[in-house]
Amino acid sequence: MTTIAVIGLGTMGLGIAQTYAAAGFAVLATDAAADVRDTALQRLRARLARRVQAGKLAPSDLDALVSRITLVDGPEAMGRADLAIEAVVERMEVKRALFAALESVVAPDAVLASNTSSLSVAAMAQGLSRPQRLLGLHFFNPAPVMKLVELVAHPGSGAAALARARQLTERAGKTLIPCPDRPGFIVNRCARPFYGEALALLEEGRCADEIDAAMLAAGYPLGPFGLIDLVGADINLAATESLAAAMQDHPRYHVFAALRRQVAAGDLGRKTGRGFLFPE
Ligand code: NAD
Repeated sequence: MTTIAVIGLGTMGLGIAQTYAAAGFAVLATDAAADVRDTALQRLRARLARRVQAGKLAPSDLDALVSRITLVDGPEAMGRADLAIEAVVERMEVKRALFAALESVVAPDAVLASNTSSLSVAAMAQGLSRPQRLLGLHFFNPAPVMKLVELVAHPGSGAAALARARQLTERAGKTLIPCPDRPGFIVNRCARPFYGEALALLEEGRCADEIDAAMLAAGYPLGPFGLIDLVGADINLAATESLAAAMQDHPRYHVFAALRRQVAAGDLGRKTGRGFLFPE
């Protein structure tokens, strides 16, 4: 049976694990934080139970999906993975160390993928003995719901690895769009002005609720602050800083003080219970 490994079970990783398990793959999953790892299946069950209650999932399918996910202690127990996807903290040195650990246990033709939002996949491949097997698979939040996955090739990514990642991820119901290995890829780059203008308005004295209400009424499915609260202000800040650095601090990618203050205060959005829009 084809096995998918997922490392990091926070906002994105748990959703990615769910996505492949729902498609019938065997999933190996881990997180460096024992509490996150130990509560992962419980959190997933709670999330799926809401779908059962809404009549969108049969109870037997919930059990089958969860039973396909096996929690393991760390990457060293993921040797049978055909595709290993990391969704750990957005820090280059952490991701590099993880891929080095994975590379030493997986089969030579296994594919390694990063869910990075903003880091260079080429830089991540440096130091790997088989850089051709590394690529970016950038899922969107919430991963089980959002169709798009940006498929990021660095100059050394191999055709076989790209084709395999595409095939397995399409089997999980996703639409893959090839993207350049440039900060922000396509979607996050296009989204910067959306966030930036909203933060500029906030700094000019408008309130976040009002700005989001206007954008919702204009037909956007989510306002800019609702989206930052969903994604995490820390993740949003990391992506903005990465783009600003890569674009030589072009004003289009300005990092607004309001976003920095939010992160410094620990008000990261849904994951911390405090964000731009809540508590009310
Ligand atoms: P998160 O903070 O919710 O979760 C990260 C998890 O990784 C944590 O549970 C942490 O304990 C774990 N972790 C950290 N270092 C680890 C290691 N060495 N080994 C194993 N586990 C480790 O973060 P997130 O929002 O899920 O983001 C994860 C990645 O996905 C980042 O690269 C981010 O840029 C990217 N991403 C995030 C979003 C989003 O909307 N949040 C969307 C697309 C991509």
